[in-house]
Amino acid sequence: MQLAANTVESLLDLTGGEAKGVSGELAPVLMPVALDQTYDYLVPEGLELEPGCFVLVPFGPQQRIGVIWDKSLGEPGKPVDPRKLKTIITRLDVPPLPVLTLRFAEWIAKYTLADLGMVVRMMMSAQAAFEPVKPRFGVAAVPGAPLPPRMTPERARAVQIASDGLIRAKSTLAMEAACTSGVVDGLVKAGVLVEVAIPEKRFGQPQPRHMTVEFSDHQEQAVMALRSAVDADAFSTTLLDGVTGSGKTEVYFEAVAQALERGGQAVILLPEIALTSQFLGRFEKRFGCRPVEWHSALAGPERGRIWKAVATGEARVVVGARSALFLPYADLRMIVVDEEHDAGYKQDDRVHYQARDMAVVRGSLGKFPVVLASATPSIESHVNARTGRYRHVILPGRFSGSELPEITAIDLRREQPDKGRWLAPRLVEAITETMAKRQQSLLFLNRRGYAPLTLCRVCGERVKCPQCTAWLVEHRFRKRLNCHHCGFSLPIPDKCQKCGAEGSMVACGPGVERVAEEVAERFPEARLALLSSDLIPGLVEMREIIHKIEAGEADIIIGTQIVAKGHHFPDLQLVGIVDGDLGLAQGADPRAGERTFQLLHQVTGRAGRSFAEGRGFIQTHMPEHPVMAAIISGDREAFLEREIAMRQMGNLPPYGRLAALVVSHREKEIAEGFAREVARRAPPAARIEVLGPAEAPIAVVRGRHRWRLLVKAPREQDIQAYLRAWMDELPDIKGDLRLSVDIDPYSFL
Ligand code: ADP
Ligand code: ZN
Repeated sequence: MQLAANTVESLLDLTGGEAKGVSGELAPVLMPVALDQTYDYLVPEGLELEPGCFVLVPFGPQQRIGVIWDKSLGEPGKPVDPRKLKTIITRLDVPPLPVLTLRFAEWIAKYTLADLGMVVRMMMSAQAAFEPVKPRFGVAAVPGAPLPPRMTPERARAVQIASDGLIRAKSTLAMEAACTSGVVDGLVKAGVLVEVAIPEKRFGQPQPRHMTVEFSDHQEQAVMALRSAVDADAFSTTLLDGVTGSGKTEVYFEAVAQALERGGQAVILLPEIALTSQFLGRFEKRFGCRPVEWHSALAGPERGRIWKAVATGEARVVVGARSALFLPYADLRMIVVDEEHDAGYKQDDRVHYQARDMAVVRGSLGKFPVVLASATPSIESHVNARTGRYRHVILPGRFSGSELPEITAIDLRREQPDKGRWLAPRLVEAITETMAKRQQSLLFLNRRGYAPLTLCRVCGERVKCPQCTAWLVEHRFRKRLNCHHCGFSLPIPDKCQKCGAEGSMVACGPGVERVAEEVAERFPEARLALLSSDLIPGLVEMREIIHKIEAGEADIIIGTQIVAKGHHFPDLQLVGIVDGDLGLAQGADPRAGERTFQLLHQVTGRAGRSFAEGRGFIQTHMPEHPVMAAIISGDREAFLEREIAMRQMGNLPPYGRLAALVVSHREKEIAEGFAREVARRAPPAARIEVLGPAEAPIAVVRGRHRWRLLVKAPREQDIQAYLRAWMDELPDIKGDLRLSVDIDPYSFL
């Protein structure tokens, strides 16, 4: 993290200037950069340091913030010329990282093979926390001050409004009084108003007993199990497994309440997109105030404020996306990972971590319980529950007593949609019936845009991304063709770039925008809601749309996977899956079947949550596929048995360990050559298989050619140690060459 010069100066102001003498003591400092070792710095006389505290140090030509570590890391024994030692400039007035967090960072680095500095950098991702807080000033009335001789109507209004004694920003008062800020300044000069610092907003304190919930018998048992896990002050992992609507949220709120009762903090992780106002509202209803939210859309200063409040313990419950796991909790006593199966918990750049798994690690380091909740738990968690590593708490059936929707397959080989259309007659009929009952329908297609492919009718040319192995996806709403891998985009062409034929370009296949177009034509009177991440600017707008749908202000909802997550649409009666086969075609991905099952189950499970007769239709070319068969029959156990047996036979996770290596370079030959070199240098090991290198399915991304290797090891093997030994054998990775190591990969593209 780099600081602007003026920031450094103000930091020095804050800490009383640069300390002069040097004590002769050394302290190990870890820098948040791509390095795996600490550096020793001299400690200035009189500067109190403790492990985890933040210091400003000279680092190369810059001054940067580092963390005091509690031991030296890296190559020991190399004596440093004492004259070359640099001195810590100052300690920052920021709460130190708890020592447990240092251990957690080391664990993540060791497991993911990421540089420790990069893990710590992730833990510091709230720049504003390290900058001095600029107090904000406002104005307030001076009690009993005489009015100035020259009063204008503007002045009178401002004085009148300020007479309630509240502190307001100048601009706020000016706005409320419909005057200029000059008028407010004049009143300050006249002594009627005075400038005062606006106190920092405090975080609400959730009350564990704000509300008591009456639980069903099954729920009550689950609540008892989770509460006693919190009371045990020991590490445990519980899989909370129950269909959507069974009351999992309601139940794990009690575990959060118990952690609060005991004076600790709690964090609830959600897939980013599920951070809806609905969830926050439910939390508020249960605990009397909103939780602290943590996600990528937060503004800088707010991030800083939250980061600090978590470190001081003022923020008691954080609800957040995966990165909320890395906040510096002062006293964390429990973690909930909701929708634990969600692939969004895996981060696929820089530090390749799986937040669900790291949450379990955090629990074991902190000796507290972790709750994994899902209606469709991951195979990994199922296996852990079966072998007794995780406790298994099951909530059978929906709380409302309503049945799960009946699912029907529409075999697209027999019942084809009309030419140029995407909805089969039976699905259209079902929507018509639902409309007649004034209930909602949801059409799901996990593909953004209008059409996944644009081709020339005359010469057959397909429009490709110039930088990636990918077709450009038409986004008709924005009138552009976009690459979903690199963001390249161009206006929809009116003639073929290759043969020059005019008006020859045609869209092939459907995306959600195209389905929306068909629906608008078929049901002109229906109110449509189109939910696709690229059409919605941010979380706030997204919350608004979701809110409208909940309030019944839409008849037909068309959406990508963002509709699958965590929403509760009370009027939703019908769910139609436009292309059930879409996720199954991902050849090399061992989780393709599992993911399709989860997605289809979650989406169809949105139907009929409040009343009895929810219905689901899945359009498919292979109704006999085991995943489809399981969804249609609702026989989850049969699906699990088969999937688990397959994983076991293939030594796939969780029965075996995988690591993916991706080599990339702008030049194909260099990428391929280095990938082969990497493969050649793999240390021999009897039980470890190295597959590849092979050109990646998406061979080029952003102009970089990609080659993949896959490492397969038995579960009991230390795959990290093997990889580390291997990486040490490699020639230097120089210039444009990149090698990324992904332990337990979720992406195989
Ligand atoms: P899940 O998280 O399993 O999808 P929820 O906790 O969201 O289930 O519960 C589904 C619905 O049932 C929600 O509207 C919730 O408020 C309601 N509900 C669940 N349990 C209870 C309960 N014990 N008392 C009242 N309402 C409940
Ligand atoms: Zn591209």
